[in-house]
Amino acid sequence: MAQRQHGLQRPFDSHQVGSWVLIGCFLGLFYGLYLPLHLNTAAGIALIALYSASAGSALVFGFLTTHTDAADPAVIAKRVGPPTVSGPGAGINYCYLCEVGVAKRTRHCRRCDKCVAIFDHHCPWVNTCIGEGNYRYFLAMLAAVGAMTALQLATAVQACVGLTDSSFVRDVEDTYGGMPSAVYAVLMGLTGLAALAAFFLVSQLLFFHLGLIHRGVTTYEFIVAQRRKAAQQPERPSSRWQRCNDELQKNAPCLSMCQLCCEEAMQKRAARRKQASVRPRPVSGTQMSSLPQRPGTSKRMSGSAPSSASDAPPGSARRGNGAASSAPSPAPA
Ligand SMILES: [Zn+2]
Ligand SMILES: [Zn+2]
Repeated sequence: MAQRQHGLQRPFDSHQVGSWVLIGCFLGLFYGLYLPLHLNTAAGIALIALYSASAGSALVFGFLTTHTDAADPAVIAKRVGPPTVSGPGAGINYCYLCEVGVAKRTRHCRRCDKCVAIFDHHCPWVNTCIGEGNYRYFLAMLAAVGAMTALQLATAVQACVGLTDSSFVRDVEDTYGGMPSAVYAVLMGLTGLAALAAFFLVSQLLFFHLGLIHRGVTTYEFIVAQRRKAAQQPERPSSRWQRCNDELQKNAPCLSMCQLCCEEAMQKRAARRKQASVRPRPVSGTQMSSLPQRPGTSKRMSGSAPSSASDAPPGSARRGNGAASSAPSPAPA
């Protein structure tokens, strides 16, 4: 299989084609059903301008994400000439598929058949790998699509609410050649539902990546750390709630990230409680005089603080950096 340099090369992914169709439907429904009826108010024009800006940004950053080659610099250099760094041991890692020495956090993507610098994941929606080269475009695309779908949802709700006004119903029927307002309501309602679903998915993905950036790990490293953590945990009979939670985490990585953040927050809270228990509590002057001073009180209090705070790992995702050891490695499914 030839190396894929970007996501606009054939064959296209079905997810990618689906995203093009969905974006096309959103744009068509907005400019076809919303714009003609809202050019006569300042609020309508402002919403149209905002929507156009977010949709334009989504298209531009979507193109940049898809078209940017995220390959390791050594792989790109090898395409145009003999590799400057080659042979096992020449680089930090050596990829036997690309036959080139690559950087430590580079991983080989089997779908693109190339090594990707600071490999994050292979995204089927843009049909290419996300890595150091296009990660910033990918984040900007998520933010722009999130804004676009939020505005799409807002305008759909506004249009549906507007149908309670008889003059707006007359405008709809006049503008669209007698189209029943019920048909307009159904179209806008479906647009709103699709926009709500897209907004939820995109925003949870965006927050997931913001969490990864905060922790300094990639999606690949996060998944590897999660699998390692799961393998280390002893099998225990789980409740229905636990099984449900495990299943949710597999399908929605954002929840895993939230859970890790919660674990970390709980550990910090426990550590703060432990520190607070070590410090003597401030008491008022009258209390101070009435309480007998007993040596060693604070020491006994510190012993009562939860000891698990310092024993617990600081978060499995952080171990992901340690997982980056050898290349080539399989891309996550
Ligand atoms: Zn490779
Ligand atoms: Zn890939």
